[in-house]
Amino acid sequence: MLRSVILAASRSGRVERLVESAPLTRGVVRRFIAGDGDEAALACTQELVADGLAVTIDHLGEDTTNPAQAEATRDEYLGLLDALATAELTPAAEVSLKLSALGQLFDEKVAYEHARAICAKATEAGTTVTLDAEDHTTTDSTLETLARLRVDFPTTGAVLQAYLRRTEADCRELATAGSRVRLCKGAYKEPESVAYQSRLDVDKSYVRCLNILMAGEGYPMLATHDPRLVSIGEDRAKWFDRTNDEFEFQMLYGVRPEEQLRLANLGYTVRVYLPYGTQWYAYMMRRLAERPANLSFFARALRSKR
Ligand SMILES: Cc1cc2nc3c(=O)[nH]c(=O)nc-3n(C[C@H](O)[C@H](O)[C@H](O)COP(=O)(O)OP(=O)(O)OC[C@H]3O[C@@H](n4cnc5c(N)ncnc54)[C@H](O)[C@@H]3O)c2cc1C
Repeated sequence: MLRSVILAASRSGRVERLVESAPLTRGVVRRFIAGDGDEAALACTQELVADGLAVTIDHLGEDTTNPAQAEATRDEYLGLLDALATAELTPAAEVSLKLSALGQLFDEKVAYEHARAICAKATEAGTTVTLDAEDHTTTDSTLETLARLRVDFPTTGAVLQAYLRRTEADCRELATAGSRVRLCKGAYKEPESVAYQSRLDVDKSYVRCLNILMAGEGYPMLATHDPRLVSIGEDRAKWFDRTNDEFEFQMLYGVRPEEQLRLANLGYTVRVYLPYGTQWYAYMMRRLAERPANLSFFARALRSKR
């Protein structure tokens, strides 16, 4: 119930203005986000890599309806990839893209062309790109774009959401040699017709999908902070004889950082999803919806306004 309310607020301009104007909000946001510009993303990446972690960097922003904004997002990624290569942070750091930030909502072809330019730059920089999964209305379009990008850039990563009823079938389709697939639970508010609603059903689906990916020939990227799912991942890696370079764990920046280091110290690849940029509102609200206990940080920040 609370999750639904928070996810609904993530699309409200009025709540957005209220949250953004609270003076302490920045401090709270900083826990989950590197900072406003690419220098902050680079500095944070450097620290994470020095700690033995891999990184995937996301420039915040989504649901763009403006072609100039989509171009600016493409250019931001091109500049970021140059900077990562110059700082010798590739291949430890890659990038994650939201096609809706590149124009998917108004012209899929534009989004594809921008994503293609970013994949070409990533290849030149010696690293990879992963296409984030957004709400279910974009899944077909995103997977079609992924297939087109993989013709020339076969290492482009997919993201599948275990809460969607279709995802087991998508896992079977994508568990092929060389295919990088991030499996997450899913962060959007979705109707029952397309998505499991209870935590138990989502977790059971995650395990079924994890089994398919681990048994297959691709490269599974297990994106979860859930302790039970992490240990099931470790168990299946042993069962399917996967070495530590044949799959990875992924977690969000600011969420369970000690666990990230613990797993890295055990020899697993752990990749941290690191967002940066000024358009942090929708991303932050999804993080709150996942763990309403985080609301107490926000409540304190909002009270500070008075
Ligand atoms: C690397 C990565 C990439 C992702 N990419 C996408 C994507 O492209 N599309 C998409 O829809 N979703 C994405 N997600 C989000 C994902 O779908 C889930 O919403 C999110 O990871 C929470 O699910 P969980 O598996 O961690 O399990 P949960 O059951 O939600 O959490 C398990 C435990 O982890 C801790 N935890 C989880 N979330 C938080 C939080 N926000 N703050 C503090 N503690 C927390 C808590 O201790 C909680 O009990 C991504 C997640 C990760 C880790």
